[in-house]
Amino acid sequence: MLQSTLFPKTLRDTPKDEISTNAILLTRAGFINKLMAGVYTYLPLGLRVLKKIENIIRKEMEQAGGQEILMPSLHPKENWEKTGRWESLDVLFRFVSHYTKTEYALGSTHEEVVVPLVGNFSLSYKNLPLYLFQIQTKFRDEKRAKAGILRGREFSMKDLYSFHTSEEDLNKYYEKMKGHYMQIFNTVGIGDETFETFASGGSFSKYSHEFQTITDSGEDTIYVCEKCKIGINKEIINEQNTCPKCEAKDLQEKKAIEVGNIFPLKTKYSEPFSLKFKAEDGTPKDVIMGCYGMGPSRVMGTIVEVHNDERGIIWPEAVAPFRVHLIGLGNAMADAHKLYTKLLSEKVEVLFDDRTEISAGEKFADADLIGIPYRVVVSEKTLKENKVEIKKRSEKEPKLISEEELLNYVG
Ligand code: ATP
Ligand code: MG
Repeated sequence: MLQSTLFPKTLRDTPKDEISTNAILLTRAGFINKLMAGVYTYLPLGLRVLKKIENIIRKEMEQAGGQEILMPSLHPKENWEKTGRWESLDVLFRFVSHYTKTEYALGSTHEEVVVPLVGNFSLSYKNLPLYLFQIQTKFRDEKRAKAGILRGREFSMKDLYSFHTSEEDLNKYYEKMKGHYMQIFNTVGIGDETFETFASGGSFSKYSHEFQTITDSGEDTIYVCEKCKIGINKEIINEQNTCPKCEAKDLQEKKAIEVGNIFPLKTKYSEPFSLKFKAEDGTPKDVIMGCYGMGPSRVMGTIVEVHNDERGIIWPEAVAPFRVHLIGLGNAMADAHKLYTKLLSEKVEVLFDDRTEISAGEKFADADLIGIPYRVVVSEKTLKENKVEIKKRSEKEPKLISEEELLNYVG
């Protein structure tokens, strides 16, 4: 893509109404733009990153046997009354139709839709287990929305729901899903900082499990056992004050961001909707369920919180909007353009800074702010040596290499 046509331009100044690192950097670099507190537009660069994260998650959920669906965001009140959450869920957006006075909710989670959906079809033990997931926009009336895309009132969530014949089968899948979650966090570049964390299981289970990414800007407090890479959420530290794995007592207090949460729901939602399956002996039995949430937009914000420096964002390769930021300088622009065409023909994702009215210093500042993994410069100086300059965003020193070496490097 040509940077001369890219919408919008980067911003020099910190947006006045943002306090979080992710919102400041993503806004300045032109990835997102705020409509109101907790509600953001994803601009061309931002949407590329969000889609990459969503696709990494999608692939892993397919590996886990998930079948993708897309459920509605507009929900009937009755379904939420059935589970008692019309009254009890504080973040639920509720509203009334002007014409019919019918009441609706905006989906903040989808047990109230997916359970009756599956109940529309008669289930036998032969149809189970079943795994359905979606990647969809959720709405939550969050009290405070000051953390940029970490806490949206409208945000992207992947939610998978599993349906089983027994608790044993649920537990097996639940354990397997932890591995898939860690695989995703490793791929998007926050694996080292992300800890499986014991959290409250609510009314239905002893525990649920969160995935918490350690960073000082996190809103959650967890206690970690570094040796086992396990955390315990502050909310349950009174009941569980040693490492659940090695029983160590010397846990470290850390700030963290909850990037995922999985729950063994058992029959919490199948009961109110009478979701049953026909067992082998012909009798109807309650379906046993689990649910598995992860927020791609929160993951994106978390990556920025973890990977940045004083000059801007440092995207991990798998989620970067482009792989190469090619910068043409001065009289070398025509040669830079040729290299751009060559890289495109090799299917390398390139943002080409082809702007002629901008100084080299400004171009480098923009490249550091945007944070694409490889910066490649073509200038009169590099041309003289028949080379190009390459620098990794995560490293300090550039080096000169031939075009051929470059193609091996980034191809
Ligand atoms: P929190 O405690 O941070 O409010 P939650 O526990 O209510 O989150 P879940 O219902 O467990 O959130 O949602 C599953 C996942 O969706 C979370 O782990 C997180 O990745 C993401 N998520 C939840 N709320 C938001 C939000 N307001 N903005 C962005 N992502 C969110
Ligand atoms: Mg949660």
